[in-house]
Amino acid sequence: MTTKTNGPSEWAVRQEICEIGRRIYARQFAAGNDGNISYRLHDDLVLCTPTQVCKGFMKPDDLCVVDLKGRQVAGKKKPTSETAMHLEVYRGDPKVRAVVHCHPPHATAFGMAGEDIPTCVLPEVEVFLGVVPRANYATPGGNSFADSVRPFLGKANTVVLSNHGTVSWGPTVERAYWHTEILDSYCRMLILARQLGKVRRIPEGKVNELLDLREAFGSGTDNRRVEGGELCVNPRFGVGEGGKVELAEVVEGGAAGGVGGAGGARACSKCDGACACSGGDQADLVKAITERVMAALEAKG
Ligand SMILES: [Zn+2]
Repeated sequence: MTTKTNGPSEWAVRQEICEIGRRIYARQFAAGNDGNISYRLHDDLVLCTPTQVCKGFMKPDDLCVVDLKGRQVAGKKKPTSETAMHLEVYRGDPKVRAVVHCHPPHATAFGMAGEDIPTCVLPEVEVFLGVVPRANYATPGGNSFADSVRPFLGKANTVVLSNHGTVSWGPTVERAYWHTEILDSYCRMLILARQLGKVRRIPEGKVNELLDLREAFGSGTDNRRVEGGELCVNPRFGVGEGGKVELAEVVEGGAAGGVGGAGGARACSKCDGACACSGGDQADLVKAITERVMAALEAKG
């Protein structure tokens, strides 16, 4: 059976789910048969991965279709045991088209340690994820597990499941997976930075610039702005021996060791790198770098 979707063809989505399954397995985000992926085909039908199948080796025909009540309507294999949680996300946020659940080790380590994911540390996380809340532990597969993500629907796109794993969602399967990948990479960096001694924070004004960027990218308004929440979540994470929250240094009007210019002068297209540009004219900087790369490629012939 092929279902008409509001977006790409069902076959294309089946192939995409298999591809994302391969990435999840290759990155060790799901051991054995762990993890599950789904896509809302249209109002009442959801395509999902089967239970007891390794996500690294799925074929498009292995996938199942269930309705929003969880009843299987297509597929030879049984649907994932986490169907209820996926359906809870679709019912709670009609904008969501895809859900990915897996057990990425670094993000899951935060869920096992009971440590909230800190914010105000890495630009990409501010722009693409925002606050990543931590859901209470619940037995996998049951209704209470599905209920555990409900408080975060419409407010976040990625959630850490205490003592279990993560779940993320988005407008496409790849985007939903991408949120998980960004989070796990970030958690790995956090663990490494803390081992080095401390984790510094991006100052509040600069975090607000990142939240402006998020809106400019069309990713919507960060929930901290919607609800007026604290910008910095878990600011005590990685404060180091001094026990004081440290801020990353911000250099206005000329980055130390800047691109192309000696003595900290920043390259810009107006002065060809011979000046220290005034203000944070990032477009000029990107243009200058692009021009230099193109010139170098042309010189190579
Ligand atoms: Zn799981």
